[in-house]
Amino acid sequence: MTDSNPTVPYSLNNPVPARRGSISPRLVKCGKASCPCAHDPDARHGPYISFTHAVSGRTQSRFLSEEEAVVVRRQIERGQQFHNEVDAFWKLCEQAADKELDALKAASSEAAKKGGSKRRSRRSSRPPPSRKSKRS
Ligand SMILES: [Zn+2]
Repeated sequence: MTDSNPTVPYSLNNPVPARRGSISPRLVKCGKASCPCAHDPDARHGPYISFTHAVSGRTQSRFLSEEEAVVVRRQIERGQQFHNEVDAFWKLCEQAADKELDALKAASSEAAKKGGSKRRSRRSSRPPPSRKSKRS
């Protein structure tokens, strides 16, 4: 494992190993009725490394070996980085979307002014003053 750097070039058409979810240590019961862990919380086994993530609204978890945990931690780190960049990208997209709406508003208020000038067209039917070009 030479790649300890979570920064890997990725794009929407170049997926890289990344995950959503979290890793946490967990104490477990082994399930044997004869084992003290069945009754005593302090006698539970572990801690084991548990990876938890939501799959279509449901929380799923699985245990990882130490070796897997190293890899999954890096994948989660990448996932968070990706998430942050997507968030920032969304902000830019929404700013652009607002600008598009503002432009529409400006255009329609411009059109409203023109519509209003139609009503006042009788008054403004005089030739524009620019025609009176003074060439003296
Ligand atoms: Zn036990």
